[in-house]
Amino acid sequence: MTEPRPQHPTQDLTAAEQLAADQQAGALTQAPAAPAQDFDYLIVGAGFAGSVLAERLAASGQRVLIVDRRSHIGGNAYDCYDDAGVLIHPYGPHIFHTNSKDVFDYLSQFTEWRPYQHRVKANVDGQLVPMPINLDTVNQLYGLSLTSFELEDFFASVAEPVEQVRTSEDVVVSRVGRDLYQKFFRGYTRKQWGLDPSELDASVTARVPTRTNRDDRYFADVYQAMPLHGYTRMFQNMLSSPNIKLMLNTDYREIVDVIPWRHMIYTGPVDAFFDHCYGALPYRSLEFRHETHDAEYLLPVGTVNYPNDYAYTRVSEFKHITGQRHHQTSVVYEFPRAEGDPYYPVPRPENAELYKRYEALADARPDVTFVGRLATYRYYNMDQVVAQALATFRRLNSAAAGDPQGSEQAEQS
Ligand code: FAD
Ligand code: UDP
Repeated sequence: MTEPRPQHPTQDLTAAEQLAADQQAGALTQAPAAPAQDFDYLIVGAGFAGSVLAERLAASGQRVLIVDRRSHIGGNAYDCYDDAGVLIHPYGPHIFHTNSKDVFDYLSQFTEWRPYQHRVKANVDGQLVPMPINLDTVNQLYGLSLTSFELEDFFASVAEPVEQVRTSEDVVVSRVGRDLYQKFFRGYTRKQWGLDPSELDASVTARVPTRTNRDDRYFADVYQAMPLHGYTRMFQNMLSSPNIKLMLNTDYREIVDVIPWRHMIYTGPVDAFFDHCYGALPYRSLEFRHETHDAEYLLPVGTVNYPNDYAYTRVSEFKHITGQRHHQTSVVYEFPRAEGDPYYPVPRPENAELYKRYEALADARPDVTFVGRLATYRYYNMDQVVAQALATFRRLNSAAAGDPQGSEQAEQS
């Protein structure tokens, strides 16, 4: 930390209240009654980035204060039971998938798993067809009966040659041609991002593969599973160390100058940390409409995408995803918004440029480490955030042990 922090007696989560009371009582002019207890780390945000780091640091003997301005832990992966008793994801459907054994093994310390392979259908031309586009999608949509080999030839015949694949439009038209692009990607992307696919980096639509076989799983990762008792329970287990104090309903700015800490880990939006001094970094937001229905199931699969109709992009049904049995069912509709809580960084060159300026400011703050989807402005899935947080821990740990080589290795991993 660059500036000296006031040293006050802090015992636990009531430290800020204690301080306010002390100030009122004029106690700060007297010798502190209790020994000062500084935190080694102040962690801003109790989502994956913050919670993984809190767990790792606490396990290595550090004293951690983790604060979140929301009323709960888990960040956007938080889950809870709704009024009907159905386990839902208030911030949209979260499906865990990873190819990293390290990440899966790490999280397995805090949860058991329910194997789950997510399936998505797209509502196109009045039909529900598999998404990602596969052999059945093309046959069903065009009334064909192609084999996998014939589908490869079909794609080759409709694909548009693109010299250098730069944009989200390039990715799709160069793989499956313009008609499938327009039916499945153009409308969805314009709705989701408020931008044409030609204005977004290739990486956005490249998240969704194209298949010539009948595999209709949305993800192809080695590990695909849901935390057996939900994400929130998993986060509770991660944060259970007595070395971790948790403060909810608290913006870090309320306590940053009040409670002593040595190093900060910040997982909120990076531009907000620097008071938007270079202007606001664009983030895409969503509005969620949750509904409960008196039916066992509403959808045939976990998610149905609506690329071309309605203001929402997709509807997801939680019981498919969680495996819960219940006589009612709860679903969520996602309505993309320009304003609101920041959920998605928007991958395009001008935003990368602006982020670089904030990154330079972040790099100049040795007292603060920036981690996570919003703080590093990366369109990361949960497993990527966990991997990033674990690498950050290794770096902090080796730096503390005075091992610059180890810290470089952690940086590269
Ligand atoms: P967050 O979860 O955003 O946590 C940051 C926390 O910081 C928040 O709780 C916030 O309240 C807190 N905070 C911010 N500013 C402050 C402040 N000033 N003071 C105090 N606290 C603050 N990933 C998958 O792998 N699979 C999926 O199926 C999937 N589906 C998704 C669906 C949707 C609709 C969205 C939006 C994301 C999805 N993700 C999915 C991505 C996943 O949500 C993120 O990768 C992950 O949650 C990011 O974790 P994080 O800790 O970086 O950020
Ligand atoms: N996409 C699309 N049509 C679809 C599914 C995805 O055009 O039916 C595009 C869209 O731009 C979307 C991106 O691919 O934002 C990534 O999709 P993914 O399902 O990975 O998005 P997320 O779950 O992160 O919202």
